[in-house]
Parts: sequence; structure tokens; C-alpha cells
Amino acid sequence: MDAAAAKSPNSISTVIPGWFSEISPMWPGEAHSLKVEKILFQGKSDYQDVMVFQASDDSPNDVAETFLSISSTYGKVLVLDGVIQLTERDECAYQEMITHLPLCSILNPKKVLVIGGGDGGVLREVARHTSIEQIDICEIDKMVVDVSKEFFPNVAIGYEDHRVNLHIGDGVAFLKAVPEGTYDAVIVDSSDPIGPAEELFKKPFFETVARALRPGGVVCTQAESIWLHMHIIEDIVANCRHIFKGSVNYAWTTVPTYPSGVIGFMLCSTEGPHVDFKHPVNPIDANDKSKRPLKFYNSEIHTAAFCLPSFAKRVIDSK
Ligand code: SAM
Repeated sequence: MDAAAAKSPNSISTVIPGWFSEISPMWPGEAHSLKVEKILFQGKSDYQDVMVFQASDDSPNDVAETFLSISSTYGKVLVLDGVIQLTERDECAYQEMITHLPLCSILNPKKVLVIGGGDGGVLREVARHTSIEQIDICEIDKMVVDVSKEFFPNVAIGYEDHRVNLHIGDGVAFLKAVPEGTYDAVIVDSSDPIGPAEELFKKPFFETVARALRPGGVVCTQAESIWLHMHIIEDIVANCRHIFKGSVNYAWTTVPTYPSGVIGFMLCSTEGPHVDFKHPVNPIDANDKSKRPLKFYNSEIHTAAFCLPSFAKRVIDSK
């Protein structure tokens, strides 16, 4: 069955035969499309439609392949409810930034919780930090874990770290049960606020995150696009400024296959030791045993990520 037949309740997948088009009420009137070589998996879990396809390798830019050590084709693509979650080509940008923006901002993190992130990419990045002793992950959908292990071994490699504890369940319920002050860092690697991730964008959830963090602990959440979702971002910033009494900052980065080509991150710290997110204090140490060079993150792009265009800065600073 080609992508044309791949339909999802949240988005109609294809208007051009042989292409996957990401049509969603989250970005009305526009759709990013990728040419499909072959659909590799299609399933429906208790929570969402899950699809994996091989993107066509039509893109010509060999220079990218050699110079940037970034593949010139998008490779395999993970889609949930008709929305692209990751491609092999550009997942590094998102996984590295959502992980190292918080973890490089605090000294000596030891206990980290990932909410969502079922593909394992954030786990792969968290594991680079040798000070960390415990990595908990709460992912609601086991199908995402299984599919990622089968089709995205370089992403799901994060599950192989001995410090990882996988919990299959709702992140909202998981956090409610966590003892106060348990974690140094929480990373909320969620899908969009339509479907199972809806509650992960609401005030009560952020309150449970704050309670689960130690004084001066940090949280980083996926925080949508400044081009498309300023209304969502406004609410997130207002809630976070009310709940987190340490630092509250918005950062952003480029991910070509995300809607509008960018994604944002909300970074907050609880009251306690001051956290300056804009100036990393904990570089990914030389004895990063992963032996995989970073493809995207570095300390300069860390600081630059907090520089916002005026239209976004005005809204975010006003909250
Ligand atoms: N890490 C990916 C990337 O590179 O962009 C994108 C996000 S990841 C696939 C989003 C995950 O959040 C999905 O696996 C989804 O099942 C999970 N999720 C959504 N709602 C959740 C909830 N309430 N609790 C736990 N996990 C949830």
C-alpha cells in the first residue's frame, strides 16, 4: 500500500501519489512533503497510528554527505498520527538540543527523567553525560519503542545503556507518583498537544514536573514553532513563569522536517542554585564514551539558541 492510502484521523497523509504530505490542523493551509520510496511499517496502537517509510534518495547534495557527515537523504522516517516525529537525516538536531540545552546548564547531573521520547534518541544523548547514574523514561506507547528498535537502531541505541529504566505508561500519572525532589533534570520529549500528549502541555503537568525536581533542577520541554504556535507558546511561558521560580527561557533550533523548519524548547529551573541556561557550565566531557561525534550541538549554538526574533521576543518577554 503506498503512502496515498496511509490515512490518519489527525491528518490526511497524501495528496500526491508516492509522496507523504503532513497535513494537520496544527498547521492549517500548509504541508511539508517527502517523496516515499517504500512504506516499511504501518500499525495502529492503543494511542496512535504508527508508520515508518523510507524517503526517496532523490536529494542530490553529496557535498552535505561528505562535508557535514550528515546524510544527504532523509533515510527512514517515523510518523505518528500523520505527523513526522523524526528522520534519520535531521533527528540529531532535535535530540541533541533538547538534551544538552538542559544537561549542559547544570553541574554534575545524576538522575534524569525522559517523558515520551519512545524512539530512544534522547536516551542516546543523555547517556553521553558520564556523571549521570539513573535515566528513567516513561513512554506511553510500546509500539513506538518496538518500531524504533527495529527500524532506527542508531536512534534506539539509547536503550542499550545500563542506566536506562523503561516505564511504559502515561507521563502524567508517572510524574504524580514520583517522590518530591527526585530528579536533577526532566526532559519532555512529547508529540504535539493533539492526542496522547495533550496533557503534557497543561499547567497541572508542569506543576508535577516542578515537584519532581530538586532545588535548582531543570526541565526542557518540546515547545512547538514560533512561526506557527505563538498562541501555544504564550500559554506555556505564562504557566512556566508562574510555576518555576528559578530561570525560565525559550530556545529554538532548526529541524528541516518539522513544520516551518524550526522547533522550540522551554527551559525552566526550580528555586535554588541559580541556573543560567544561556551559558553552559557542563560541557559534554572529553570522556564521552559514546565515541559518536555530536552532529549538531556545540556550546556556541547552545548560547545562540536563546536569541529570538523580535516578534517572538516581544511576546515571550511580556509574559
Ligand atoms: N523524539 C522525537 C524526535 O526526534 O522528534 C519526537 C518525539 S517522540 C516520538 C514523542 C513521544 O511522546 C511518542 O513516542 C509518544 O508516544 C509519546 N507520548 C505522547 N503522549 C505521552 C504521554 N502522555 N506520556 C508518555 N509518552 C507520551
